[in-house]
Amino acid sequence: MTVNVPFPTCPDCHGPLTLQYDADLNDTKYVYCLNAECSYDGISAGSVVSKEGQPARGWPRQNIDGRPVPWLAPIIGDRVAWASLNSGRLDEADQRRLCQVCGCSLASNPSAWIAVSQGEVAAGGAMHRRCMHLARTVCPELRNDLTYVFVEVHQSERANDWEAALARLTAYEERHGPIPRLLPLHA
Ligand SMILES: [Zn+2]
Ligand SMILES: [Zn+2]
Repeated sequence: MTVNVPFPTCPDCHGPLTLQYDADLNDTKYVYCLNAECSYDGISAGSVVSKEGQPARGWPRQNIDGRPVPWLAPIIGDRVAWASLNSGRLDEADQRRLCQVCGCSLASNPSAWIAVSQGEVAAGGAMHRRCMHLARTVCPELRNDLTYVFVEVHQSERANDWEAALARLTAYEERHGPIPRLLPLHA
């Protein structure tokens, strides 16, 4: 599938902004101004993303570049900023407790899942179980970085306070040694 979202406009010269990919298409985080005379450079894609043409909520996820696009991923022009998060949607997900992958509410589920690497919870917040499985299958960072584990969190746990979830991880490690890639609530 192709997309064609209007490019956001450069705040300095009003020319179009675009994304710059690195060679392996992974680190697509920043927008640049296409006007060579303008110095507007290296701005996080998530902070300039337009409201139009962004990934829809729900399943199935739209495919771009052969990969399902998370609801939180900014689309800039005809490209996805895979490594960036849409800042407006991030706030919305936080406040309304939405899944970062599908954008739907997590409220009706007794639990959700977060990705944790070396004691740090990955940005973007919680996910449905099904969405977590999709993310860890198709997201290169989650798939290839074996320090990531996925921790089930209770419905009442919030993004501003993952302390309890991290404490469960530590406690599990102390009792059993290595943490499995998936750590259910009652492990
Ligand atoms: Zn410019
Ligand atoms: Zn979801």
